[in-house]
Amino acid sequence: MDLKSSHASPVLADPTPVNKPRLGVHSSLLPYSQTGTTFSSGLYISIPRKKPGMVDDVSSNGWLDAMLSSSPPRKKLIKDMNSDAVVADETVDHAYISWMLKFPSAINAFDQVTSAAKTKKIVMFLDYDGTLSPIVDDPDRAFMSDAMRSAVKSVAKYFPTAIISGRSRDQVYKLVGLTELYYAGSHGMDIMGPVRYDEADNHLDYGSSSDKQGKEVKLFQPAREFIPMINEVFRTLVESTKGIKGAKVENHKFCASVHYRNVDEKNWPIIAQCVHDLLKDYPRLRLTHGRKVLEVRPVIDWDKGKAVQHLLDSLGLSGRDDVLPIYIGDDRTDEDAFKVLREGNQGFGILVSPVPKETQAFYSLRDPAEVMEFLNSLVNWKELNGAEAAAVPDRKRAS
Ligand SMILES: [Mg+2]
Repeated sequence: MDLKSSHASPVLADPTPVNKPRLGVHSSLLPYSQTGTTFSSGLYISIPRKKPGMVDDVSSNGWLDAMLSSSPPRKKLIKDMNSDAVVADETVDHAYISWMLKFPSAINAFDQVTSAAKTKKIVMFLDYDGTLSPIVDDPDRAFMSDAMRSAVKSVAKYFPTAIISGRSRDQVYKLVGLTELYYAGSHGMDIMGPVRYDEADNHLDYGSSSDKQGKEVKLFQPAREFIPMINEVFRTLVESTKGIKGAKVENHKFCASVHYRNVDEKNWPIIAQCVHDLLKDYPRLRLTHGRKVLEVRPVIDWDKGKAVQHLLDSLGLSGRDDVLPIYIGDDRTDEDAFKVLREGNQGFGILVSPVPKETQAFYSLRDPAEVMEFLNSLVNWKELNGAEAAAVPDRKRAS
């Protein structure tokens, strides 16, 4: 199926000059006035000044508290003295079991999942960190296992599959390394899709010309105009934090991040102050807290939920009662996607969590190992029921 340029949010061919209107991005995506932001013939954006006093001092605005709690301690494990078995804290497990009554394990409720999918086409959306890869102290070492890669590859053989991550698109592509997927990086602000999607055989056609990953692609980047601003912020942060031992600044194209996991805790207020001072000059950027990282990103009404909707639209698969989107993710940013699916009554979210959490998902999985088990089960189910599933009428296939 060709991607249609007439969609409400069409996929844009890359590159799009930043001094031209961005097709398909409604002005409502930019809640702040463009007044004061001008584009020169180059990529420079003049920065509107924020009124003084709009950002509080770091010691009084909760930043430091958020920094301290940005990596909650992992679930306490008690080693059984009589065997090598690891026994989870009983209280936590009791709460988890109660929670699972409300958000059943997608493995235990697999029959329920497949009965919903029986006459429908599954579209799979997967977060990366904490979903396909374990959460580790060093984000550069959050590798997915070969077994998980193989499970995702098998899933993509049968269902259109997208990775939607907070990481930059290039970074997550390198970590996953599968060409047959869609990739949405920077919390969905940087989406790479194939040129065409052939629904008949689940084939993603990347065309004849290529990008650096070896294929022709379409990019959708609703925050594209912020790229020069983020570059500038990145340079400023590199400069302002260069004297702080262990601080690491990264440019993720749509987000500049300052990692402080290797910074002595007594210097965290200095890190916070650097970012705080910078934000005073950029009213169209905001701070978010990640795991031992401060992230500076555009104020834009775009999230993983909108990315999911955009991808479904682009594939011609949205609003169809014969399509079942499934989104698997583990953190707060994934809730936007769970919500889109729940409120649109189109498929469901699966929350990956070893502890009870409030969520908009319908099902749960405890950890990436269970995600892999679920994905493999889905592939096995599809292989066993292929003939039956193939009989589903493609009533909306493009002519
Ligand atoms: Mg995650």
